[in-house]
Amino acid sequence: IDASHIRNFCIIAHIDHGKSTLADRLLERTGTISDRDLQEQTLDDMDLERERGITIKSHAVRMQHTTDAGETYTFNLIDTPGHVDFTYEVSRALKACEGAILLVDAAQGIEAQTISNAYLALEQDLEIIPVMNKVDLPVARPDQVAMSLEELLGEPAEDIIKISAKTGEGVDELLDLVINRVPPPTGDPDKPLKALIFDSIYDSYRGSVVYARVFDGTLNKGDAMRFMATHQEYDAEELGVLRLGRQKVDTLKAGDVGYIIGSIKDVSHTRVGDTITHKHNPANEAIPGFKKVKPMVFSGVHPSDTEDFEDLRSALDKLQLNDASLTFEPETSTALGFGFRVGFLGLLHMEIIQERLDREFGLDIITTVPNVEYRVRVSEPGDDDQELVIVNNPSEMPHYGDIDAVFEPFVKADIIVPSEYIGNIMQLCENRRGVYVNQRYLDTERVNLQYELPLAEIVFDFYDTLKSVSRGYASLDYEFMEYRESDLVKLTVLIDKDPVDALSTIVHRDKAYEVGRKLAKKLKEKIPKQLFEVPIQASIGRRVVARETVKAQRKDVTAKCYGGDITRKRKLLEKQKEGKKRMKQVGDVEVPQEAFLAILSVD
Ligand code: GDP
Ligand code: MG
Repeated sequence: IDASHIRNFCIIAHIDHGKSTLADRLLERTGTISDRDLQEQTLDDMDLERERGITIKSHAVRMQHTTDAGETYTFNLIDTPGHVDFTYEVSRALKACEGAILLVDAAQGIEAQTISNAYLALEQDLEIIPVMNKVDLPVARPDQVAMSLEELLGEPAEDIIKISAKTGEGVDELLDLVINRVPPPTGDPDKPLKALIFDSIYDSYRGSVVYARVFDGTLNKGDAMRFMATHQEYDAEELGVLRLGRQKVDTLKAGDVGYIIGSIKDVSHTRVGDTITHKHNPANEAIPGFKKVKPMVFSGVHPSDTEDFEDLRSALDKLQLNDASLTFEPETSTALGFGFRVGFLGLLHMEIIQERLDREFGLDIITTVPNVEYRVRVSEPGDDDQELVIVNNPSEMPHYGDIDAVFEPFVKADIIVPSEYIGNIMQLCENRRGVYVNQRYLDTERVNLQYELPLAEIVFDFYDTLKSVSRGYASLDYEFMEYRESDLVKLTVLIDKDPVDALSTIVHRDKAYEVGRKLAKKLKEKIPKQLFEVPIQASIGRRVVARETVKAQRKDVTAKCYGGDITRKRKLLEKQKEGKKRMKQVGDVEVPQEAFLAILSVD
């Protein structure tokens, strides 16, 4: 096909605004899939995605569309996830496209990820087509929403197309709009090869399957390739395009999106963001890669059975191929043995990785309470040299007496909410040490509140609380801002007088006593009575701030039941409880696995 008849675009939107449903309609209208084969959200092919109704990975699919004038176009559609944790997936997808459909729910209006995604697309210089979806809903308020979109993008309100991804209304006009507004790919098929890896998956039979967008040059089946960043060389054994499955082709050339397979067994050789060129006649320089994403939340992930350590490592290796943002390094805990300190983008990301380890790899794991990454300034006595220590595991916090200052990550948070809930939201943010920045009305009913918040205060349950104090109407987006000094201390938990590394946490001094008391109490509930009396203490430095005692007795303590609404942290706790009630020997004391997450149930 001639590049002038190719359109590479993606659909971006806030979660639930209808991306996957629109993708279904496009697949149907273009005859890519027959009605018979169409399931809802066809592109969400991971089990986990179906169950949760959310898109986790970006998906690419190629469609053919013939206009009324009889011209046939090739569309490469890249579906993207909408949750804040997965912004990095969106930014990758955008790199492979010339245009983006920005979908907005006509009833909900602009939400936090509508804005952040629009900015991502603007940064990449994409042609943005704003589209109002769900106009079939009786509660849709298209005129108001169109006005706020005009405000956001400068697109005249009356020009904004109104569709229903559910009924198909307006979808044909949208296809025409994509053809007319999204520029065809530029690039020269005769230049040296430059293809950008925007995703890759691990296939146990074929090795690494690379998804790439060719910017310049032509790749033929059998060509010798070079991966510019990793300096690896492989032959392109199979090339293809992505229909609903893989479809082999002989050539991928400038403008095309497709997959490449080359017996690549080492997953680290195919890094997302890397450029593929030819071994002979290589390109001079690589395509600028993606912004490297940094994990924000860390947690210890340990196999329940120490024998599974190597299996856990290879599972994490494989997950990392799909997920450049996942980091891990080995750690040893006196309580939990060998495991990894794993870095995640956020709690949802962490939950998903845990579930995938369980489902796809059959691993039984224990996780410790998540924490952010701290920077600690240590001053040696009698020495002016001050060094910054990076701490992503509370048990590695320097000694209390050596610490000069502790810095924690702050984020800029945008919260969009109907005005009647402003009071609740402000109160929530103040409780979480938030600093008010400003507020701005998006339309007559919705307000964008800006706060600066410590990341540590929002990683656990902020999102759930935000939803509950706004009856589900608030949406949140945040981005890392800077490290700031805070009065933080390490709270050490001692069981039977022994500090337990996997239980220590870092908290603000103002909250330390309260958290210490509650945590000790919780642990008392979770730790079954032993044959002897077990003291549980919480301390800051040498100072004990709370003490409880598990009395000597044999009887089992019945587990507490949870009722009420299921928040994310509760789900985590329940998940943990589901697992076999294996005990960990800590000194002479048997500690159940769920005790390691006790702090999550401290309110
Ligand atoms: P995504 O998170 O952006 O991928 O959103 P989905 O495509 O999963 O859609 C979220 C929900 O909105 C689903 O229950 C869809 O059936 C529903 N939905 C999507 N588009 C429309 C529409 O045009 N009209 C109505 N009434 N519902 C829609
Ligand atoms: Mg979706």
